Amino acid sequence: MERSTIVRVQEGLHARPATRFVKLAKSFESEVEIVKGGKAASAKSAVKLMLLAVKENDEVTIRTSGADEIEAVEALIGYLENPLAGLAEEAAPAEPDATAIAKETLKLEPVKPAAVDEDIPSALRGVAASEGYAIGRAFPHFPQEIKPENRKLSATDIDSEIARFRDAVETVQARMNASLASDSLSANDRGIVAALRDIAADDELRDEVVAVIRSGIDAVSAVIGAAAKIAAQFGQVDDPYLNARADDVHSVGRQICLALLGQSDASLDDIPQGAILIAEDIGAWDLARAPLKRIGGIVCGHGGATSHIAIIARAHGIPAVLGMGKQVHELRQASEIALDGHRGQIVADPAADIRARFKARIDDAAREREALKIFKDATPRRADGTVIEVAANIGSLEEIDAAREAGAMGVGLFRTELLFMRHMHLPSEDMQAETYAALANAFAPYPVIVRTLDIGGDKPISGIEFPQEENPFLGWRGIRMCLDRPDIFKPQLRALLRAAVHGNVKVMLPMVSDIDEVRRTRSLIETCKAELRAEGTAFGEFSLGVMIETPAAVLIAPALAKEVDFFSIGTNDLTQYIMAADRLNPTVAKLNDVTNVAVMSAIEMTARAGVAAGIMVGMCGEAAGRPDLIPQFIRMGLTELSMSPASVQRAKKRIAELGA
Ligand code: PEP
Ligand code: MG
Repeated sequence: MERSTIVRVQEGLHARPATRFVKLAKSFESEVEIVKGGKAASAKSAVKLMLLAVKENDEVTIRTSGADEIEAVEALIGYLENPLAGLAEEAAPAEPDATAIAKETLKLEPVKPAAVDEDIPSALRGVAASEGYAIGRAFPHFPQEIKPENRKLSATDIDSEIARFRDAVETVQARMNASLASDSLSANDRGIVAALRDIAADDELRDEVVAVIRSGIDAVSAVIGAAAKIAAQFGQVDDPYLNARADDVHSVGRQICLALLGQSDASLDDIPQGAILIAEDIGAWDLARAPLKRIGGIVCGHGGATSHIAIIARAHGIPAVLGMGKQVHELRQASEIALDGHRGQIVADPAADIRARFKARIDDAAREREALKIFKDATPRRADGTVIEVAANIGSLEEIDAAREAGAMGVGLFRTELLFMRHMHLPSEDMQAETYAALANAFAPYPVIVRTLDIGGDKPISGIEFPQEENPFLGWRGIRMCLDRPDIFKPQLRALLRAAVHGNVKVMLPMVSDIDEVRRTRSLIETCKAELRAEGTAFGEFSLGVMIETPAAVLIAPALAKEVDFFSIGTNDLTQYIMAADRLNPTVAKLNDVTNVAVMSAIEMTARAGVAAGIMVGMCGEAAGRPDLIPQFIRMGLTELSMSPASVQRAKKRIAELGA
């Protein structure tokens, strides 16, 4: 029996929908396969299903064979076409969704490397996965490697070896279930452990291992081989979220092998207060149940910015450098480790001067944090009484609390890219409307400035095909791409109009270099309004601004100012385009300097044009948070400065020092 359809599941068959789909498939006796683009996978394996990467609007075929094949096809096609039907009857999940929570906190953006001139030449380098500095006693954690037993089984041993394997899986699942049932895990960590438990329970892994055991190979060797094979498949999928799951498969494989061998890993329970954990690999499960409050920092051979170790580290404020590769072994004999989670650097047994430098950074950071707290609720003003809005740059709803705690007066730049990058599909209009409304609500009555999608070929997203470009930074990105793709741009504009009902929403366009781009956007906004009106959907008005981040925008600023409600200067890009110096290329880092007279003149020209036209001029590039430059920006006429939440109080203090 075979039927094809178009998938209407908004998230695609990923995370929670994948679990539901597999559960439904398993409720039938028949064999069930799902086929996409000529590739088939068992619909009864969540791992296989995830690897097929089925997205919304994909065409798939369901193939069934067995006694209840007709019912199976109907039920599964029914789910794919109308996933919400029948959901109400489902019992509320007793446990957190296996992957949704972990995905929610997944930050795809690696921590931005800080200025190169502060690098330490002797440092080892890895991925800057969780910010902060640490210095502490080394705590090497190198559990022994599990080697395949390479035992040849006789025909009579096979059934008992399979039973041994099944027992081991049950042991691992039972341990993970016990962890989930206890209240020692945070909600985020519970999501991660549940994801691991699902991998341990998956048919794909079991079937693979059982098949290898049947061919006469011992269970430990079979598990090692099967985990490596499945992990490699996750590694090949063109999706960073799925790539990061390879580490999870390895970690589950290891737990099953240990259970088979009747062993357990050395515990992290003995880690001394403030010590730096050094490991080739740390299972997310091990880390989640470790005494995280005592861990001063994490250095790991495996893992990247999107791995579960990074997510746990960031959620608990533990500085971490991951993806060190074999270099971690150089640290095994070290007694003390200095770790820089901003730059991704590690110094083993630091010499007195480096030690002092790290110690000073840590102490300074702590002291400054304390002293600045009094500025949290300050309203900074210029000498003439005009309020200077000190706002935050954020990229997800999870950052709202940090921004509010810092005292941000709204959001000066909400980067919407993460919303588009963290899922396997483009975010729906409803999902975007909810996100923008939640943002506006959280900061009301302060404004939130949402930047429309600013993405190009250098940062691919599932669901948008980018051409191969010689110079992606000069290519099809930001407003250029959006205007060519109304199917992506209109839902975002409609979502923003809908969210404007809930708070003070402002919208700004990135990478503008021509007035026509603003006019075409305005006309698209009018079309969206007409559609919403005709549908009877409530919407509000928003003011429209542009980022000034191309030399062209600076040169036409007087004309642009007549067409928009505000300017926000994006010094990160403006500097690279004015100086023709790639912002990511350390070789030209010296030229990439916002204080260069050419860039400062461009900022001044922009400010003059904006002030003359009577519109607000703000800044959301990194320079906005620089205490040394803030006085000049205010003198030029800027009345809004938006920065990372960590810089807000320092900026408020600097403005207060200028004297109202
Ligand atoms: C800028 O270019 O200054 C800016 C704020 O945008 P982004 O860093 O996201 O390019
Ligand atoms: Mg920019």
